[in-house]
Amino acid sequence: MWTIPRPLLNRILDHARRSLPAECVGLLSGQGKTASAWHPLPNQSQDGRRFYADESALIQVLRQLRETGEDLVAIYHSHPDSEAVPSLTDRQQAHYPNTLYLIVSLLTSGRLEMNGYLIQDGEAILQELLISD
Ligand SMILES: [Zn+2]
Repeated sequence: MWTIPRPLLNRILDHARRSLPAECVGLLSGQGKTASAWHPLPNQSQDGRRFYADESALIQVLRQLRETGEDLVAIYHSHPDSEAVPSLTDRQQAHYPNTLYLIVSLLTSGRLEMNGYLIQDGEAILQELLISD
């Protein structure tokens, strides 16, 4: 069970909407499986049809987490016009087997559709999410 506070979810959704028609990408940090902070990253993908986090921004956040003793809890990105299911590319490019991959779908207008997965050896395993207040 992974815990994500609702205010962080709202920030992810805002980020996803502002990034349209491109995908957005970012990180959640915290302790173990509980997220407590939001770190949006620039999407370096040329066409915005996939996500590729800006490397230096990513390294900067990971360095900051090491200093504060926080864990990388989740990596999120959006799917502007497909379901909240990892694509083949998502599964092939997932290099953090113990980090939650959150996918927000904007396919359903007005309603937040989000799923979380662990991706290990190219296999996506759906995770149970608890949205806390
Ligand atoms: Zn994706």
